[in-house]
Amino acid sequence: MPRIRLLTASTVNKIAAGEVIERPASVVKELMENAIDAGSSKIILEIKDAGKTLIKIIDNGCGIEKEDAPLVFERHATSKMDIIEDIYAIATMGFRGEALSSIAAVANVEVLTCTKEGDSAALLIKRPSEDLVVKEGARAKGTTISVSDLFANIPVRRQFLSTDTAELGRITNVFTALSVAHPEISFRYICDGKEKANYQATENPLNRIRDAYGSALADSLLSGKYSDEILEVTVFFSNLDLTRANRTGQSFFVNRRLIENKNMERGLRIGYRDLLPGGRFPIAFVFVRINPDEIDVNVHPAKREIRFADEERIHRAVGKCITEGFRAKSIVRPSAADSENALNKESITSTQDTLPGLYEPKTGEQKSTFSFGASTNAHPAPGHVPASGSESKANPFQELPVQPFVPQQSSEAKIGVGEQFKNDARQYLIPYFQLHNTYILCQIKNGLLMIDQHVAHERILYEKALKGLSAGERPVTQQLLFPVMLELTAEQKLMVDTFFKAFEQTGFALRSLSGNCVVVDGVPAAHKDQPVKQMVLEMVDELTKNSFGPNDYDKHYASSYACGAAIKAGQPLSLEEINYLVDMLFQCENPYTCPH
Ligand code: ADP
Ligand code: MG
Repeated sequence: MPRIRLLTASTVNKIAAGEVIERPASVVKELMENAIDAGSSKIILEIKDAGKTLIKIIDNGCGIEKEDAPLVFERHATSKMDIIEDIYAIATMGFRGEALSSIAAVANVEVLTCTKEGDSAALLIKRPSEDLVVKEGARAKGTTISVSDLFANIPVRRQFLSTDTAELGRITNVFTALSVAHPEISFRYICDGKEKANYQATENPLNRIRDAYGSALADSLLSGKYSDEILEVTVFFSNLDLTRANRTGQSFFVNRRLIENKNMERGLRIGYRDLLPGGRFPIAFVFVRINPDEIDVNVHPAKREIRFADEERIHRAVGKCITEGFRAKSIVRPSAADSENALNKESITSTQDTLPGLYEPKTGEQKSTFSFGASTNAHPAPGHVPASGSESKANPFQELPVQPFVPQQSSEAKIGVGEQFKNDARQYLIPYFQLHNTYILCQIKNGLLMIDQHVAHERILYEKALKGLSAGERPVTQQLLFPVMLELTAEQKLMVDTFFKAFEQTGFALRSLSGNCVVVDGVPAAHKDQPVKQMVLEMVDELTKNSFGPNDYDKHYASSYACGAAIKAGQPLSLEEINYLVDMLFQCENPYTCPH
């Protein structure tokens, strides 16, 4: 075993640099943060060759005192804190005093800085493992930092960099995120001699989002606000029609710092609840202002993560912003539980008055915030079909002329048409049109509505199953004359076992045989006319296909059940069934998407 030795300062710096400076984008982030901390109102970023040749930041901030200048390349040299307690009250982006020393360990750095208009400037030149050279220079108040030949002295590091396109993409992301966090600062971005961005200072964060992401995105964002004693949250987020396949469209800022935090992501997920299909992620900008005592910013060398004293509060606050933003736009029907949330209604803002693709709800003392043309306080037309067993909900078609119902031969209960519906409403049916036995076309006040019959039925069954599961209600089971035997794979059998209780609670009667065989003795009465084998196998497939968390047991089952049991595309429906389907759909909390 060799003897123990202390590492040299240069080795220590290189190791530290490895933690802070992973790639060109990390340099950009550290230097831009320094410029922001210096109180600059104007910051310019210049890049050559994706940052490998040159990264240059020009600011008009406070500058560095000449006497302090030699210190900037020392490790743990900072003007931003003295004692450890300061960390917990920190309002600046930096505080560890590691960035410049780390960068100087892996690149050539030049700093030209001036603290007072008219004074001479200091020019500091530092190359890895060479002494610092200090000269006199000239520039207006502010600081210019140039970083060249990044990782030239650490070939492995350079080798690990991605393609120029990828590295440049990361730099652009950092630039965009920091500029969105600081709309009051004007930013320019020049890349290989070409201007890529030029953002004027603005008070309104949405203006900056518009500059950075374009007006098509910015103008379609919804927004919600939340505040309490210790924090203030503003979220700008995309409507249901604008999502991504990953989280790259999401940015989280805490006290203007761009961070990653699982709980804020969770907050978004909760806010969107089951509105989005799996694997789709909303675009969102989350701004949190919080008392610095309530966070720990010192948990990551590159300050990428922070910890909250009360993580729970954060995700709830973010979730509330989303729910309230949607509610303000009438996308989500408020549920009783939600409205108990003590949320300050005054703090809700919206970015826009009409949603693309949806109709503006009529105002007035409307109870439901349902957003189709016909409002709840409109007179029900003679043909209005009372929604069985529920308070009157706004069916968008209630003002349309109706035609007398002509009984059809094929109207057996493929979708479990309720008895009450059959008896009460037979004579007054709305003349919907079924296209390709798949879509239901409806004439509504302002145009045409197209409903995918499978998706609609899925949504209805999903909400019904969820309610039933949580209320412990069990629908009637129809015993099968001829039980159906299913041979499953081990994985499928495991799923059936896992969700055995849910199957029972939703009206299925199953029996496990030896091996991986399962016998279906009964199905929910509402589905008695459906092909049993196909329905149950599809449910099992759905259960197996998608993953679920410990808290998603009911939801996962309900969506699998809904998918397997819903009527399919290609299924002819009677007018009576279509009326029933549409009516049930618009009694749903979220009639706009299927649970997937
Ligand atoms: P930290 O930001 O954690 O303090 P850095 O290594 O990033 O550490 O910077 C060291 C110090 O150099 C800062 O505390 C600050 O005093 C000074 N400094 C760096 N960049 C600038 C700048 N653009 N304008 C003014 N001062 C700067
Ligand atoms: Mg810094």
